[in-house]
Amino acid sequence: MKITLSCIKADVGAIGGHIRPSMRLREAVENFVRQKGKKLLLSFHVNSAGDDIAILMVHQRGVDDPEIHQLAWDAFVEGTRVAKEQGLYGAGQDLLKDAFSGNVKGLGPGSAEMEFEERPNEPFLLFTADKTNPGAFNLPLYLAFADPMYCAGFLLSPKMAKGFTFTIMDVNYTEGDRVIELNAPEELYDIACLLRDNERFVIESIRSRTTGEIAAVVSTSRLHNIAGTYTGKDDPVAIVRTQGVFPATGEVLSPFRIGHYVAGTMRGSHNGPLMPVKQNSTISFFDGPPIVTGAAFCVHQGILTEPVDVFDHPFWDWVRNNVAQKAAEIRMQGFSGPAMLPYAELEYGGVVEKMNQLDRRFVIRAEKHADRAAAGREKRAV
Ligand code: MG
Repeated sequence: MKITLSCIKADVGAIGGHIRPSMRLREAVENFVRQKGKKLLLSFHVNSAGDDIAILMVHQRGVDDPEIHQLAWDAFVEGTRVAKEQGLYGAGQDLLKDAFSGNVKGLGPGSAEMEFEERPNEPFLLFTADKTNPGAFNLPLYLAFADPMYCAGFLLSPKMAKGFTFTIMDVNYTEGDRVIELNAPEELYDIACLLRDNERFVIESIRSRTTGEIAAVVSTSRLHNIAGTYTGKDDPVAIVRTQGVFPATGEVLSPFRIGHYVAGTMRGSHNGPLMPVKQNSTISFFDGPPIVTGAAFCVHQGILTEPVDVFDHPFWDWVRNNVAQKAAEIRMQGFSGPAMLPYAELEYGGVVEKMNQLDRRFVIRAEKHADRAAAGREKRAV
């Protein structure tokens, strides 16, 4: 049976700043999808990560289906209505356009979708991240799908011996989808060369080279490319199939132990370590740290099991303590150097105005300038 997994997520309002949607908002979204999605969906699940709500839908309509996207958009419009009623912060903030036009891409909400022939047992992971951007998944997915130091399957499973194909998107290109396909392991260094730049080059999808099957998809939208101004971080979602020809579930989880530094956290303008947290976690220290939740599912004939919280385990308590320490360390240096994002990443925010004002106050010292010009003339004469 061929099924489609569609995860569409948006921030349409939260309690106390950018912390967490209200229970009423979440229920409104969930009830809407339940009622209006009866004919479209085989099953669905709604969760939240920080201030974002993610709707995971199982159906048979393929990716980019207008009715599925409309359903999610309308659910977020309904959520926005409740958010406004309750006076939640940032009500409707990710719905950047007034009218829906067939696909949520380019309108604000993020989407990650994959279509495949269901295996007899079909385990997969849904990751939802908050206070960061799609490049946050670059390193964990690279390590899980290309590095035998993290994925033992490359040594131990003949099914994975051929490796994986990475489709990587240049998210700074706004005229359309600019993508490149690279094969691991032969082109590992090329893949690494792109993926080091989390702000520009983002893994869009990964396929098995053994079977050609889709293995992973990530939402790739960058809100500032849509709005042309700062609108918060893009808070990505990823769907990753596991076991069989794909890495084992634990192999996909293992790189999240690093807590690598990613862009996001306070005002989307800083670097902070990505902390794996329990389902429905809130946001706290310095509007961060950036968080990622992980839910494991099986799906059979389109029907989802209940989710299992993969980061709700004593091991991850130890990881969270370490990551908290990393967050505290980089925060010690406030705005200095790598603690805050470089200017190119901030240029959609208010800092542009400040820099313009300061730019006008710079002076070039006349004397020194004249001396240097003269020195230059002498040098040339020699
Ligand atoms: Mg968010």
